[in-house]
Amino acid sequence: MQATKNNPSAEKYLGVLVTEIHSVVVATIDDQGLPVTRVIDMMLTDGQTVYFLTAHGKEFYRQLMRTKYVALTGMHGGEGMDRAEASMHVKAISLRGHVENIGTEKIGEIFEENPYMAEIYPNPKAREALRVFKFTDGVGQFFDLSTKPITRADFSLGSATEAPTTGYEITDACVGCGTCLEVCPQDCIEHDVVPYVIEQEHCLHCGNCFTDCPHQAVVRR
Ligand code: SF4
Ligand code: SF4
Repeated sequence: MQATKNNPSAEKYLGVLVTEIHSVVVATIDDQGLPVTRVIDMMLTDGQTVYFLTAHGKEFYRQLMRTKYVALTGMHGGEGMDRAEASMHVKAISLRGHVENIGTEKIGEIFEENPYMAEIYPNPKAREALRVFKFTDGVGQFFDLSTKPITRADFSLGSATEAPTTGYEITDACVGCGTCLEVCPQDCIEHDVVPYVIEQEHCLHCGNCFTDCPHQAVVRR
């Protein structure tokens, strides 16, 4: 495993994950090979990775130790608003990657940063059941629906040096006919020059430009 690299964009999104979102849905695979989820708090970040914990008696712990891989999604925002309004004010992060059991390292820091943990595990003896995990590598996506147009960003952790490339892009086959502009819900296609260019940070990945381009100039990234 390569050493963790400094990744400024990851630092920003890990901060959002731990301080703003905090509680996320984490998916693992059970003994039957089926997906299982539960809500887990993202306890701490040092800007390069994120730390969470669980008790060694839990099924979650056994699954983490077996696969050493998780996928998670969390969202935040829209509190106090009605459902329609709230859904337009959401920030969400998804992250998947390998995790490592680092034992009781960081336990003190985690309890310091998350005082509510002392109510769940009130004394040092009870805390002996806890084990801390961290991501050793991973790829993530940030999604902010509160901006107009929406904001999207990819990031990576640790040895996963390449952020995932998803969505669509326009190739030299573009003739500038403008069909894609009419179907893009985010107005995020630059059309000053041909070939047109998708503003990736605002693209919804809806695929309208891909399916409607009469010249097959739009391809998956
Ligand atoms: S629809 Fe296709 S060919 Fe027409 S402007 Fe858009 S990308 Fe270019
Ligand atoms: S995938 Fe959808 S949002 Fe993105 S550029 Fe194409 S039409 Fe616009």
